[in-house]
Amino acid sequence: MSEDLEQLKQRISLLEYLQRRNWTPRRVGLRQEFVGLCPLHAETRPSFYVNARKNLFFCHGCQRGGDLIRFVELSEHLSFRETIAYLKQDFALPVDHTLLEEVAAFYQMQLQRHPEAVEYLRQRGLHDPDLITELGIGYAPGGNLRRHLADLGYSFDLLLRAGLINDQGHDAFCRRVIFPCRQQGRMINLYGRSIGAAFPHRLLPRSKGGLFAWESVRACSSAILVEGLFDLASLWQAGFRNTTCGIGTHLTPAQCSQLCDQSGRYVYIAFDQDPNHAGQRASRLLAQRLESADLRVRIVALPPGHDPNSYMVAGATAADFRACLQQAYSL
Ligand SMILES: [Zn+2]
Repeated sequence: MSEDLEQLKQRISLLEYLQRRNWTPRRVGLRQEFVGLCPLHAETRPSFYVNARKNLFFCHGCQRGGDLIRFVELSEHLSFRETIAYLKQDFALPVDHTLLEEVAAFYQMQLQRHPEAVEYLRQRGLHDPDLITELGIGYAPGGNLRRHLADLGYSFDLLLRAGLINDQGHDAFCRRVIFPCRQQGRMINLYGRSIGAAFPHRLLPRSKGGLFAWESVRACSSAILVEGLFDLASLWQAGFRNTTCGIGTHLTPAQCSQLCDQSGRYVYIAFDQDPNHAGQRASRLLAQRLESADLRVRIVALPPGHDPNSYMVAGATAADFRACLQQAYSL
C-alpha cells in the first residue's frame, strides 16, 4: 500500500492537479515556486505557495500545508482512505497509444466536416480517398478535442502530459492536417501540418519514432527517402510505394539502423531542392553516413525549388519522377 501511495504521489503533480481545478498560479523567485489565492480559505491577496519540485503546498493565511493527499483531504473533506480511492480513480491512466488512437480517429472524422481541410489536401495534390483513409489522415480544427476526450473520461492532466493540450487547456493542434505515425502497428506520435500561418510542422513532444511505414517498405530492395509526409503521400499516390519518410532531413540513429538492416539496399534520397541548398547539403551528409554502412545511395535531383510533393502538384507524372530516379547520382 505505501509503495503504491508513493507511486501515486509521484505520478500526480500537485501543480497540475490545482491547475486542473482552475487555480491560477504566478511564478515566484525560484523557478519551481508558485503562488496564488488559497483554495482552502477565502482571501484576496495570494498566500498559497506551491513548490512544484517537492510537490508540496503551504498557505501563510490559514497555516495549512502538506502534499497532494493532504490537499485533497482538506479541499474535498475526505478521509485519508477516501482520498486515496478518489485519486486512484481520478488518475486511472489509460495506455498512451490508446489515447492517440482515439485522437487520430476523432481527427479523421473531422476531416470531411471541414471543407478547408479537404481543399488543402486538394491543393497539395492528394485526391485519392482510399490513400487518405489508408494513411489515416485527419484534421484538427482546434477547440474541440479536449471536450471530446473529457467525455471519454480522459483527465486534463493526462492530456496535458500527452502534449495534446497546453496549460491553458487549448488544443495543441489547431488548423492542422494530421498524419498518425505508427511503429509496428502502434501509434506513437501525431504529425500536424498547419494549413494556416502557424509554424508548419508540429509533432507531439515525444519520439518521432522510426521511419514512416517502414514495415511495408523494408521488404523492398530499394527505398525512396523523403523529408515530409506530403512528399510520401504524393509518391505513394503515384505508385511509388517503396517511399518512406524520416520527418525532417536528420535521421535518428534508430531510423538509420532501419535503413541499414539490409546491406546493399538502394536508397534514393529525395529531399527538398532548397534555394539555400540546405536540402542538398543534408542529402550529401546523409549519403555519406549511409554509404559507410554499405548501402548504395543515390541523390535525386528534382527541378530547382521543388520537393517531391510540389513536383507532382506542378504536374509531373509517375514517369517523370521515374526519370528523376534513373538520373539520380551517387557521391
Ligand atoms: Zn489558506
